[in-house]
Amino acid sequence: MKTIRAVDIDFIDSFNESAKACYPNEFTCMVRQENGVINEMILLPGTLYGDSHSSFSEWMSPIDFSIAGTAHSHPGYSNKASDEDILLFANMGGIHFITCQPYDRNSWKAYDSKGEEVVLETIDHI
Ligand SMILES: [Zn+2]
Repeated sequence: MKTIRAVDIDFIDSFNESAKACYPNEFTCMVRQENGVINEMILLPGTLYGDSHSSFSEWMSPIDFSIAGTAHSHPGYSNKASDEDILLFANMGGIHFITCQPYDRNSWKAYDSKGEEVVLETIDHI
């Protein structure tokens, strides 16, 4: 997998909008990268918002190599990865976004598969 170096601001905006729309439930999706830039949410049919993270494993086949990780929202004001989140990140690898209230451009954080925060450049257009 290509190293992720940046995230498209359009992705961040769509992610936060979806999170807002799902509130108070948790919004979850997968994320796609192009040339090392996260630029798209992948919504998979049958995903139950507010359900546990366990459904992610089913999403992994067939493997789409542009899939770079996951994104989900927290209904509260913390974008810290929970123990459950870190387990999921470790199982999946890749990069993982968490956003929280108030779901704006400063609400999100990105984590690697060890649950360590990743600082990404935000870009307006690829
Ligand atoms: Zn979480």
